[in-house]
This record gives sequence, structure tokens and C-alpha cells, in this order.
Amino acid sequence: MVNPATEEVIDEYLSTDASSVDAALRNAALGQREWASLRLSDRRDGLRAIADMVTEHIDELASLESLDVGKPISRARNEIASVAQAFHYYSGMVDKICGSTIPVDGGIDMTFREPLGVVAVIAPWNFPLAVASWNAAAALAAGNAVVVKPAEDTPLSTRRFAELMATQNLPEHLVQVVLGPGPTVGEMLTSHPLVRKISFTGSTKTGKAVMRSAADTMKRLTLELGGKSASIIFADSDLERAIAEAPMGVFDNTGQDCCARSRILVERTVFTDFVDGFIAATAELRIGAPADEMTELGPLASRLHHERVQAFLDPVEGAVVAGEIPDGPGFWMAPHIVIEPDRRSAIVNEEVFGPVAVVLPFDDEEDAIELANSTIYGLSGSIWTSNLGRALRVAQRVESGTLSVNSNTSVRLQTPFGGFKESGFGRELGMAAIDGYTELKNVFIAT
Ligand code: NDP
Repeated sequence: MVNPATEEVIDEYLSTDASSVDAALRNAALGQREWASLRLSDRRDGLRAIADMVTEHIDELASLESLDVGKPISRARNEIASVAQAFHYYSGMVDKICGSTIPVDGGIDMTFREPLGVVAVIAPWNFPLAVASWNAAAALAAGNAVVVKPAEDTPLSTRRFAELMATQNLPEHLVQVVLGPGPTVGEMLTSHPLVRKISFTGSTKTGKAVMRSAADTMKRLTLELGGKSASIIFADSDLERAIAEAPMGVFDNTGQDCCARSRILVERTVFTDFVDGFIAATAELRIGAPADEMTELGPLASRLHHERVQAFLDPVEGAVVAGEIPDGPGFWMAPHIVIEPDRRSAIVNEEVFGPVAVVLPFDDEEDAIELANSTIYGLSGSIWTSNLGRALRVAQRVESGTLSVNSNTSVRLQTPFGGFKESGFGRELGMAAIDGYTELKNVFIAT
């Protein structure tokens, strides 16, 4: 692994080989049986203990995340705090996962929600431990065991989490980590018969490959894939606040966020005011060393990813570069703002996953909705307006799994998160995630 801020090698590791992956899955199956048979209160306390363990090690885990991904340390700390919060949240759900009774003729009918068995979580490099553990916490609450594969570039926090888990008084092998590249080690998970479900976060292209590989063994899937989310800013919004919040709405995590509002659509009458304000506000973001508490934007996560983002920018003319990057090594890139590009261009329609925003004017509500829905994606987005009727009218017609009104946030532990169209399917977080980690069984009793 390489520190993206300095290009220094941080660590090396060996990939988990096929027989070790197989052993991990067999052991996980044993651990799952023990876990599912524990008293409910013991499972609840087990998840609470994991939350406490993460809180005790928050600085260490945040430092590893910051070092590995190039994340500003303050952001990394918030993410690790969300890991602890997810385990707390799902600990309270252990004894609330229930079926129903259904009126039928000739007897009594009831449903049960049962654990699936072994769940594999294939995690991305942009939010490594956060995404892995939001999924793991829900899967464990439902009585499953979990095997996590972090992205090969960013395994440090997840590897340390697994070491800490081994010190907990929980069934052995309940949560395990396998290391190595997606096309080999990831594929072992997506094709292995013992894995009952894959929770995958990553690109739409790889999501399709995961689906194909999982088809042979009919695995359950949650796919949280790419996005090209729109922030729709109407002239009747609080423009000052929309401008103030727009930079972090797209450039947070250096734009490496599936929910980034990378298409900013602005009503034509306030377009120039918005663009001027947005450029000025973006130029004030503090770009710098991830370990500095004041830093708001770090580098991109890897050299390969820097090259990918640059390739999107190469054909673009006239992008405004707002802010300055540090001198010296590192995969740095300042925020780029592309004003009124061709609506059909790649920069408008494809996921760049870097510090690049396009700003486009629209004429009326109908035009805004058509533009918002014009990509293959449908993950998240925002609507900025002071008209409640318009907010709801537009929200009902934007094809997206998660929308915010007068806000640029998408992810809350308590609410379902996931995509429409090629942004994937299934829902993470909230109570909805539990449905994806259980089978629904129906039992009829003749009376
Ligand atoms: P991928 O989708 O390829 O990687 C995501 C995860 O899947 C990683 O753990 C990766 O492992 C694993 N993986 C890769 N190939 C396979 C496979 N055949 N079977 C099973 N698992 C596999 O993303 P990239 O890192 O290549 O990033 C490319 C683009 O994807 C980005 O530019 C961005 O647009 C998008 N992306 C979206 C994310 C999101 O949050 N929705 C997150 C990450 C990327 P490994 O890295 O070890 O090979």
C-alpha cells in the first residue's frame, strides 16, 4: 500500500490463497451456527461490545484510514465514529426482527425472518471500514456470520478491526477478513457455494461482474454502485446557503463519494450568481496534509485513480480550477468546476469520482427533472427550494433512491440507502437492511 499524500510505501501483505478463503468460509459457517443459537441478550451485548471496542480505538483506526486513503483526519474520525454508532444501532435490533401472522382459511399462518448464513461484504476503497461495518453490523444483528474483503489498496483499518475482533468474547470466526485483489479473491467469494449473500459496494461495471458470478449459486445481492447525483437549485431557494454547502456536497472526500452532487443544476435566472459564489466558496476549501486537523480535502486515493480522473478532464476545455494543491509528491488534484458543458458529454453523464463538478442551467421544473434523470444512475441527489409543494413534486419524479431537500447529505444510519437504475439494488442501513440479511419463511398450521 502507498500513502497517497506522500507516495511512500506504507506496508505490504500477501493475498489470502484459495484454500485459506475456503477455510475462512467453512469456519464462518461454524461461527454463524453458534452465534445464531446464542441468547438474544448475548447477541445484543456482543454487538454493543464491538461498538465499545471501536470507540476505544477510534484514534488508531482513524489514523490508519487517513494514512491509507489520504482522508483528512477529522473526516476519518467521523467515519470511524459511525462504525461504532452502526454497531450500537443494530445491537438494538437483535430482538426486534420478527415475522407476522396472516389470516387464512383452515388454520394459522405465520412468517419468520431467519438468518441467511455466511455473508460476504466486498468493500470499496473510498470509505473502507465504514461501508464494511455498516453492512457487517446489520448482517450480524440478523444472526449471520461475515467475511469481509477490503479493496486491495486500502485494507489497513479492516485488517486491524479483524485483529481487535479476535480479542472479543464472541464465537470464533464470526467476522473474518480475506485480503487480495477483487478479480481473484473477490471472485472466490462471489462464486463460493457457502456464501449466501454478497453485499458489494463499488463500480457499476464490477457490480455487473459480481452479479454474473453470483448467479450460478443464486446468491442474494445488495449492490451499491456508482452515481452521478444532481443537486437541483431553484431560484426560490436560500441561494446563500445552497452556495455555502455546495462545495462539500461535491468535493468532500475529494469527490470520491458515490453520493457526490457532481451535477449541479441551477435555474437560469440565478445561474451566474450561483456560479460566482460557488467558485469563490470552493477556493476557500483547505487542501493539505491529511494528518492536519484543519484539512478539508486530501489527495486522491491512488495513482491509478488520479490517472482515471485526469483522463476525464483532458478533453474538457475551460474548467475553472479552484484552490491550490501542495507542492511535492502525492496524488493531489484541486477542485475543477466545468461550467455549462455539452449536456451529452462524458463529463456530464459518467461517474468521475474525483473533485470535478459540472454546473448546468435549466429553464423550468420539467427541464430540471429531465436533466436530473438523464443518466444511467439513480443513487442520490438534492432539491433546493423554499416551495414545499415543488420539493415534493420534484422528489416524486426524480429517479433516485435517496433525496434530500435543502441539504446535501444522503447517509443516515437509521434510513434506507441504495440506488435506482444502474446505481444498484437492495438497501443498506436502517431497518430495511435487515430484510436483505434474512430469508422470509412461511409456516402454515392446519387447525
Ligand atoms: P471496483 O468496483 O472494481 O472495486 C470495488 C471492490 O470490488 C473492491 O474491493 C475490489 O477489489 C472489488 N472487486 C473488483 N473486481 C472484483 C470482482 N471481479 N469480483 C469481486 N470483487 C471485485 O472499483 P475500482 O476500485 O476499480 O474503482 C473504479 C470506479 O468505481 C471508480 O472510479 C468509481 O467510479 C467507482 N467506485 C464506486 C464506489 C461507490 O462507492 N459506489 C466505490 C469505489 C469505486 P480490489 O480493489 O481489491 O481489486
